[in-house]
Amino acid sequence: MAEERKDRERENVVIFPFMAQGHIIPFLALALHIERRKGYSITFLNTPLNIAKLRSSLPLGSSSIRLLEIPFSSSDHGLPPNSENTDVLPYCHVIRLIEASTTLRPSFEKILRDLIGQNHGRKPLCVVADIFFGWTATVAKELGIFHAVFSGCSGFGLACYYSLWLNLPHRKVDSDEFSLPDFEEASTIHVSQLPLNIFEADGEDPWSKFQKGNLSAWVDSNGVLFNTIRDFDHLGLLYFRRKLNRPVWPIGPVLLPSESRASVGKQNGQTSELCREWLNSKPLNSVLFVSFGSMNTISASQMMQLAMALEKSGKTFIWVVRPPIGFDINSEFRAQEWLPEGFEESVSSRGLLVHNWAPQVEILSHEAVSAFLTHCGWNSVLEALSNGVPLLGWPMAAEQFYNSVLLEKGIGVCVEVARGKKCEVRYEDLAGKIELVMSDSAKGKEMRRKACEVKEMIKSAMKDENGLKGSSSKALDDFFSAAMVARQNTLEGCNSNN
Ligand code: UDP
Repeated sequence: MAEERKDRERENVVIFPFMAQGHIIPFLALALHIERRKGYSITFLNTPLNIAKLRSSLPLGSSSIRLLEIPFSSSDHGLPPNSENTDVLPYCHVIRLIEASTTLRPSFEKILRDLIGQNHGRKPLCVVADIFFGWTATVAKELGIFHAVFSGCSGFGLACYYSLWLNLPHRKVDSDEFSLPDFEEASTIHVSQLPLNIFEADGEDPWSKFQKGNLSAWVDSNGVLFNTIRDFDHLGLLYFRRKLNRPVWPIGPVLLPSESRASVGKQNGQTSELCREWLNSKPLNSVLFVSFGSMNTISASQMMQLAMALEKSGKTFIWVVRPPIGFDINSEFRAQEWLPEGFEESVSSRGLLVHNWAPQVEILSHEAVSAFLTHCGWNSVLEALSNGVPLLGWPMAAEQFYNSVLLEKGIGVCVEVARGKKCEVRYEDLAGKIELVMSDSAKGKEMRRKACEVKEMIKSAMKDENGLKGSSSKALDDFFSAAMVARQNTLEGCNSNN
């Protein structure tokens, strides 16, 4: 009883990510981050299979996070049965799952109404929803509930992505390079920096139609929460402030602690211990970590060139290897076929190949790690920068191309080495860039100095002790204050109407 009463006294935050691991992970991190603040209960919404997966492994015993199912059946939408996560779908079906997610609207509205009923008429404090769920802003507005979009992307990356979808500028010029009409502060964009769905978009294809409706609905939201840091990502944040005429709250980095990672899918198994022991045996700042996120792999020829570059560089490395494009991720790794002859033997004393999945956060926080060759997924970037690790960027999809620009041109902690999964990569160039970043060259030293500076910047943004707050902690305070004020205003509005 007392528990129930306590729960009712807490302010309820409804959290609703799109059904993909890359979206669920930052939302879960956000839920745990908010929970630590006390005084809030969280309703974490998702489709039945995603909730079941979270429930089976998340240690939520005494927690104030409530997992709630929103009804959904993939086979009702022409998708294979039990396909509720992009993890289990080929890329060509992802847009169908995204389109199908818009049909959740009536159930979402019912859930919000039920929550209000269960709480004796008191509305949830706010809804925090995915960048793909613009329609939730319209529902929340109709019910008078404060709403924020939560972006797991950088401000700069999302601003480029948002502007590209709304304007499709590459369709309006003859050249391979163009600028963004409403975001001229961003440097020009080259066609090689377009993700496939934007490159192919003509305004009438399913992706364009979805994004037009989705992104336009953001004006119904009360603002955007970003998993980023104000001090190095202000251009993108400014873009949204101007574009939506709404506040933005940079509250990052909000990262999922290692102990909660098992709940969102892949297991490290034995590798955690193995990697730690291996790293312990290596000198300080000597190891290159190579990993392309939770789902990417590269082409067979790129894999061959990367292996040759690692061989030539002479550096110590951990490489998360997956079967190349065209092979099932679970198929056996055929080193003899995909790597240069004798590669494993020739690098055995200085290279560790980890198959499919590695304990990335643990690796990046180890003092032996010196640089990270990454696809520039924003979680990976935040994990590296929180540990002062400089980057070699190989963006592959979505807004990763613009993250790479921000990191290289804006912050100075990255060198881009390649673009996309089809580009030609030459091992001599790759080895040269590895050398540049990891050696004592002026450029390498400067990048490492900047990366350490950014690490301190991040630490101070997240500070929340003895009344001293950094910019990210303060932004989260501001967000909750805005939600409180909005609710107070609706209450007063209701009372004066009665
Ligand atoms: N990750 C990991 N081990 C791996 C590959 C990825 O732990 O072998 C984690 C990584 O730490 C990060 C997430 O998966 O938290 C990848 O997110 P990111 O935004 O970087 O890229 P995405 O996978 O969404 O493209």
